[in-house]
Amino acid sequence: MANQIAVRVHCRPQDEILLETNSHICLWEAGGPAALSGVTCRTIDSARGLLTAADLEGKVRPDDMQSVRTRLVALENTHNRGGGTCYALDAVQAISRWARANGLAIHLDGARIWNALVKTGTTAADWGAPFDTVAVCFSKGLGTPVGSMLLGPRDLIAHGRRVRKLFGGAMRQVGYLAAACRYALDHHIARLADDHVNAQLIASAARDVPGFTLTPPDVETNLVWWEVDARHGTAKQVAERLKAKGVLVAPLGARVIRAVTHLDVSREQCVKAAEAVRALG
Ligand SMILES: *Cc1c(COP(=O)(O)O)cnc(C)c1O
Repeated sequence: MANQIAVRVHCRPQDEILLETNSHICLWEAGGPAALSGVTCRTIDSARGLLTAADLEGKVRPDDMQSVRTRLVALENTHNRGGGTCYALDAVQAISRWARANGLAIHLDGARIWNALVKTGTTAADWGAPFDTVAVCFSKGLGTPVGSMLLGPRDLIAHGRRVRKLFGGAMRQVGYLAAACRYALDHHIARLADDHVNAQLIASAARDVPGFTLTPPDVETNLVWWEVDARHGTAKQVAERLKAKGVLVAPLGARVIRAVTHLDVSREQCVKAAEAVRALG
């Protein structure tokens, strides 16, 4: 909802968003831009989910009554389907300059921004400056039961609160949830580095299995994606074999698996999970 509120705040019907092909906003939010805001998504392919200013060059539609109005650039950091990949700050600053020079708004889906901060040694302020709005999610690596937020300037957020109400998201009891988010901000950021180390255990096990291919080949943060070839059956069958050994992974395509390390799995458990993966070879 945080992302979809941003779309609604920045755009009006018949507008278009520029975003990466596998971005959460267009792939995993149930058609929200079209259904909730009358907005189309122009998807742009890229390596590892990360766009460059060069990818966006020439993508602003002409001012023409037959055309949608290009209005918003939306980036995702870390990029989920890209493999938990991190943008370089200077690449994002270049995209931001391009967007602003072209009169476009720019939004960050920062559901996993804290993983990116820990990985790249940058600050939250670094990532606020290039964007008009940033969505963050407390229920991913930060480990709260629920909670996302939209950050931005006061006037946009005031508008966003109305949209939230309209989308069914206004909740009087939110203080209990906010308390968990506050706790997570105080206690669960630095430890994300442990998740990144643990993900390497799983990744190196998957690399050792003939017929498993890491996509992308190197793991930057806490997400490990790999493809399984026919000798292993489907991704679902591989996930079932691992589940039988007490290891839960997500089949997210016919041949694609995602494993996620997070604060509920210890290093010892990740060592065991890696053994279970390796034993499939
Ligand atoms: C989970 C996720 C979201 C949305 O999080 P909610 O918990 O549904 O608010 C947005 N973007 C990405 C990349 C995510 O992984």
